[in-house]
Parts: sequence; C-alpha cells; structure tokens
Amino acid sequence: MEHIITTQNLSFEYHTEEQTRHLVLKDINLQFKKGQFIGIIGHNGSGKSTLAKHFNALLVPTEGKVYVKGMDTKDAKHLWDIRQTAGLVFQNPDNQIVAAIVEEDVAFGPENLGISPDEIKERVEYALKAVGMWEYKDYPPHMLSGGQKQRVAIAGIIAMKPECIILDEPTAMLDPIGRREVISTIKKLNKEEEITVILITHFMEEVVDADRVIVMDDGKVVLDGTPKEVFKEVELLKKIGLSVPQVTELAYQLKREGFDVPLDILTV
Ligand code: ADP
Repeated sequence: MEHIITTQNLSFEYHTEEQTRHLVLKDINLQFKKGQFIGIIGHNGSGKSTLAKHFNALLVPTEGKVYVKGMDTKDAKHLWDIRQTAGLVFQNPDNQIVAAIVEEDVAFGPENLGISPDEIKERVEYALKAVGMWEYKDYPPHMLSGGQKQRVAIAGIIAMKPECIILDEPTAMLDPIGRREVISTIKKLNKEEEITVILITHFMEEVVDADRVIVMDDGKVVLDGTPKEVFKEVELLKKIGLSVPQVTELAYQLKREGFDVPLDILTV
C-alpha cells in the first residue's frame, strides 16, 4: 500500500539568535496510510506543530527525510505538488480567511492554481457543501461563528483537492459547539470524501475514534497505536501531562479491578 506521508529519522532543530541548539524533533519514523484518520496528541511544546509543518514542506528536516507521496520535501521542484497534496489548516481561522465574502475566500486557492472559472465555481460549491457551509456562500466571514469560520477555512483547503489535510489544533479557539461542528466536519471529510486526516489536538476525546493515535513528548513519539491501545496507558499519559477522558479512565480502572468492561464504549 502506498503511504501518503513517510518520515525517516526526522530530526529538526530551530536556529535561535543566540545560536543555541534547540532540538525539537528527535528521530521520528512514521508512515501514514492513505484514507486513515490519524490523531497526534501531546502537551504544549512537545513538537506537534513543528512536526505538522514538515508534512507539507513548510519546514524541512535538519536530519533525515520526509516524503509526501514519495516526493522528498527537501527537493524544491516538488514544493507545489506537495502543498497541493497535503493542505495545512491552522488554529486561528481569522488568520486564514482573506476575502470579504465566503465564496471568494474559498475560490482564492484554486484561482492561484490557474484553473478555469467554471472549474473554480465547481470546486467552491463542492468544498462549501463538503463542510456544510454552502448556504453561507454570500456571507461576509465576520458574520460567522468561530466554528463556521473554521469550516470555511477548511473549505479553502478542500477546494485545492488535497489527498490529505493536516489540522493543527483547529478547535483550540472554539467554544464547545464550534468544536463539535469542526470535528464532525473533519470526520465526514475522512469517511465520505476519503481524505486522509491528520488531526493535531490536545483534546483527547477528539481522537477516541481515530484509526491511529500518536502521542508526542519532548520531540519524540512515545506511543503509537489504536485509541484503545494508547488510552490504556493511563499512567504514562498522566506522567507526560495528558489527561485521559474521564469515561476512558473509569473504564480502565474498572477493568484493572477485574470488572468485565466492554471497551467498545470508549469509541462512542
Ligand atoms: P506544540 O505544537 O506541541 O506545542 P511546537 O512544535 O510548537 O510544539 O514547539 C516545540 C518546541 O519548539 C517548543 O519548545 C517551542 O518553544 C519551540 N519552537 C517552536 N517554534 C519555534 C521557533 N520558530 N523558533 C524557535 N523555537 C521554536
């Protein structure tokens, strides 16, 4: 099976003005399967954003390699293809929305690809429908809620027809309703549009039904498995400052005490 993203011995250091070495990613080896929903969790400063930026060549490794559909992110001739294959959505929708009207905003990326006006129209409609925002196409973005703005920002990426979207804490600035809207939109894009999703978050409940969960600590991958495999490591997760969803913790506590708890309840 083809992997959409592969990292090989990826290490990265930021060069600070004081010329001090700041090794932020340490020997990361990952392979992401096409079509999967992958969650990456870790506390602040563990290196998640830095890793995400390697997935669409916003950063390139200090050591090692990153390949997007086999394309080496260090090879400048692939930059455009890589950016189209793997789209990155950031935390704050206000920083990603550029136009005065929703529809124009979503058209912005495809316009830069130099495709025909008819196809741009089609893509805008497809993208806004995919995130459930088509009825707001004539709205000025400032009239929308945080969750709606984030869905418009996601539509802007979807309109580029990426195979993979990477979302870097897309719900961190949203209220609970906005969070739910955005998470259900992301899941729908994965299931119905078959887009590979890499969701970076520190809300563990957002990844309980991911295909795979990767836990980072201090620039390293410390856990990697299904949500059930990862969430049962309650002690390790606590040690690195992550709180396991209460229902999960309770289920594992009961299980340790000998109760027959069906762990399927964790993937509601
Ligand atoms: P996370 O997304 O998990 O919060 P980051 O990737 O943002 O982690 O940060 C990892 C580490 O890299 C932190 O110690 C942070 O201070 C440092 N860092 C992030 N961005 C920069 C930068 N532009 N220059 C120097 N250090 C940075």
